[in-house]
Amino acid sequence: MGVSISSEQLTTWNECLDYLQEVVPSTHFSTWICPLQMQILGETLLLGAPNRIVYEEVNAKYLPIIKEFFEDRFSDKVKKFKAYVVGEHSSVRAKNTVGVLPQALPSKAANTSTMAASGELNPEYTFQNFVIGKSNQFAEAAAEQVALNPGRAYNPLFVYGGVGLGKTHLLHAIGNRIQQDKPGLKVRYLHSERFVTEMVRAIHTNSLDDFKAFYRTIDILMIDDIQFFAGKDRSQEEFFYTFNTLIEANQQIIITSDRFPKDIGGVADRLKSRFGSGLTVAVDPPDLETRVAILLKKAEAMNVELPSDVAFYIAQHVRTNIRELEGALKRVIAHMRFVCRPLSQELARRALKDVVAAQEKMTSLDSILQIVSDRYGVTRDQLLSDSRQKKYAWPRQLAVALCKELSSLSFPEIGKALGGRDHTTVMHACRKVESLRQSDAKIAQEYHDLLRQISH
Ligand code: ADP
Ligand code: MG
Repeated sequence: MGVSISSEQLTTWNECLDYLQEVVPSTHFSTWICPLQMQILGETLLLGAPNRIVYEEVNAKYLPIIKEFFEDRFSDKVKKFKAYVVGEHSSVRAKNTVGVLPQALPSKAANTSTMAASGELNPEYTFQNFVIGKSNQFAEAAAEQVALNPGRAYNPLFVYGGVGLGKTHLLHAIGNRIQQDKPGLKVRYLHSERFVTEMVRAIHTNSLDDFKAFYRTIDILMIDDIQFFAGKDRSQEEFFYTFNTLIEANQQIIITSDRFPKDIGGVADRLKSRFGSGLTVAVDPPDLETRVAILLKKAEAMNVELPSDVAFYIAQHVRTNIRELEGALKRVIAHMRFVCRPLSQELARRALKDVVAAQEKMTSLDSILQIVSDRYGVTRDQLLSDSRQKKYAWPRQLAVALCKELSSLSFPEIGKALGGRDHTTVMHACRKVESLRQSDAKIAQEYHDLLRQISH
């Protein structure tokens, strides 16, 4: 059966994928959505599942979501929905997808997010599948040392870096390795928000002593995203005592944060200096080669043969972090299954059209920040900091106003991109710059010069 896909259908499907990526947890997306082959025949959307298990799950859980999406947006184009097992239903057998190895059965991934939330380890996050590059080699090596010698190598180990760069992955990898090599040791992974919730519950139920006693029996305590302790004085206090007790007993503590210990706001200084008393390592955004290597590894895990030029294309266009890189890969694969064509650069280009456009917007924000910080002799960190000193605040307000003028991002998006600011702060900055430009010719000129410099 010949399948021809119009560009309209592609756009439709891309929008559906966007929607699914938003509403379906990412492990579920790769397990249940990626393996599907999609076609729109006439007014019918067909979803080909590689086996019964995927078929049943999709039929029960995802078909209703997909249906809802199409009924909401494209009720004129698609009216019927049907899932089937590829090969079992001769009338709708899809063309064999080229470049795809036989599908693996759904992995354990499907229920790992719940497991991690309940304090257990995600078996998928291991050292074996952690790709090492310049950006993370120190963090990885330190993590391996800690796994080899818990309580003795570096204590505490503090890993910091931006979102989606592998901090949580490394924590689980340490935990998994220790559970495998030293099954007698008690390992506990938890997000700092969970620590807070548990503690609050213990206070309510009058069981704070049990709570403390429990934490003091743990051999390896891993607390993820410690920046969430900010402002929670009581939790900090509790954690501080637990922390000291564990360290003194040579029990291992591993902490992650989105920033360097000293820069965490709303956390007591003595706790911060305690954080930095062992080894502090950074994970940075990966370079191009590492991004390619990560894509190849992820594709292999998904049983997909990824041609290197396609990996290169994706890596070149998705530069922010590894989570986004994975998202882009899944999107390309889902797209490939939909169009039933082999993976190619052209296919990746189409699948990532919106992603790339969004990235380009971010790149332009980047260059705005660069030009403004050069011009005013401040660093990027100072520009994005919370400092209200005029020498930082004014260039920051200018940068915000320029971003609003030159990008099509919304106030909240700009706020998020510029150091996580509230949209009202962004609006205020724009108004202020605007009114000063009206009233002060020198400022109007300054703004104009910057605009010109950026647009060149
Ligand atoms: P963070 O905790 O820093 O926000 P995560 O550890 O959740 O980031 O990583 C985001 C995703 O990227 C995860 O799916 C993780 O497996 C993957 N990832 C991150 N770093 C690597 C790496 N070096 N090699 C392979 N996968 C990685
Ligand atoms: Mg994390």
